[in-house]
Amino acid sequence: MSKIQMKTPIVEMDGDEMTRIIWQYIKDELIYPYIDLKSEYYDLGLKHRDETGDKVTVDSAHAALKYGVAVKCATITPNDARVKEYGLKEMYKSPNGTIRGIMDGTIFRAPILIKGVKPHVWNWEKPITLARHGYGDVYKNTEIKVPGAGKAELVFTSEDGSEIRKTIHEFKGPGVLQGMHNMDSSIESFARSCFNYALSVKQDLWFASKDTISKIYDGDFRDIFERVYEEEFKEKFDKAGKEYFYTLIDDAVARVMRSKGGFIWACKNYDGDVMSDMMAAACGSLAMMTSVLVSPDGKYEYEAAHGTVQRHYYKHLKGEETSTNSVATIFAWSGALRKRGELDGIAELQEFADRLEKATLDTIESGEMTGDLALISELPDVKKLNTLEFIKAVRGRLSL
Ligand code: NAP
Ligand code: MG
Repeated sequence: MSKIQMKTPIVEMDGDEMTRIIWQYIKDELIYPYIDLKSEYYDLGLKHRDETGDKVTVDSAHAALKYGVAVKCATITPNDARVKEYGLKEMYKSPNGTIRGIMDGTIFRAPILIKGVKPHVWNWEKPITLARHGYGDVYKNTEIKVPGAGKAELVFTSEDGSEIRKTIHEFKGPGVLQGMHNMDSSIESFARSCFNYALSVKQDLWFASKDTISKIYDGDFRDIFERVYEEEFKEKFDKAGKEYFYTLIDDAVARVMRSKGGFIWACKNYDGDVMSDMMAAACGSLAMMTSVLVSPDGKYEYEAAHGTVQRHYYKHLKGEETSTNSVATIFAWSGALRKRGELDGIAELQEFADRLEKATLDTIESGEMTGDLALISELPDVKKLNTLEFIKAVRGRLSL
């Protein structure tokens, strides 16, 4: 069988721990045998990020903008423990945060629903897609550990030298401080991505924030969405019989729980981070969720929404058997290959992506799955496979 040929390389961002092991298995078993893979490889493993002073992360994001399609493995976001564990020169920022900062845009995450695993929220009949703003807020913060008594102020100095100054707090003792920002341009492109995506999948769009408390900051998000909707999208939504509505995040959470699903829920960066984990867990497993970052000018970075599965990796290092679910990482690859095929007009590449996803889901629905799903599957005959066995089972179906 001749391998599928590619034109433009996919930007490949390798990562850490268990997902790095899975990454290699997927390439060896599910990609290389079928595709003459063209990729521009960036090693975002923590050791290499440290060696390059995190330059590799920045370079990979620029490559994603240059080529238009990237696929990313989960990576460690360093904390104190990781700085010690890896002897890091500094506590680097989250690679995802860095990449999202450079690519801007919106992260769309949807659960992968399968036969045998019912969502914990029984009234959800269709997937709820979370649209997470990918820029700014707490992910681009500046923090100070306040050592003792003193006055904290928020100061903006404009280019002409004039100042806006507000008191944040008069500290009587030690505390903490945080500065955050966002930009109207980024919020506008977030809004446009959401409206366009909702129209493309013919679903309603919900957006929510905490504008009762954060009157200026979250109020800006609310107003920009409203303006972009009225000026550019209202007619299209009316024509499609679809709806956009804004509500307070507290109200949105309550409505989501009572809903049937089948809509797009746009969230600010932090809300989207935690709500997408909740959605994935409620639909079965963190590993049963697709995730793609779409920049305002249509560049794509596909990834898994879960982390590096550290606990499994330490078992793996001790030579113990693991049963780590690779579905989200497989779907990151299939998503990237399909998009590359679309952009380069390579039908075989798009068909291969479809076949890879179908083989993955058929494997699970035939009863062969990893431990996380085996625990919750209601299928009559469930066989729990280890990490590599599952990927090999998918390969078995792929070559049928
Ligand atoms: P995690 O890797 O998402 O794993 C948390 C737990 O969820 C696991 O211990 C496991 O539960 C379950 N789980 C997650 N993915 C799974 C999979 N594919 N198959 C089976 N079970 C899965 O989160 P973490 O352990 O808190 O974080 C580990 C590292 O990942 C951290 O250094 C963090 O910075 C990083 N992280 C990276 C990303 C990213 O790059 N996208 C996102 C989040 C976190 P059991 O242990 O019960 O089996
Ligand atoms: Mg998260």
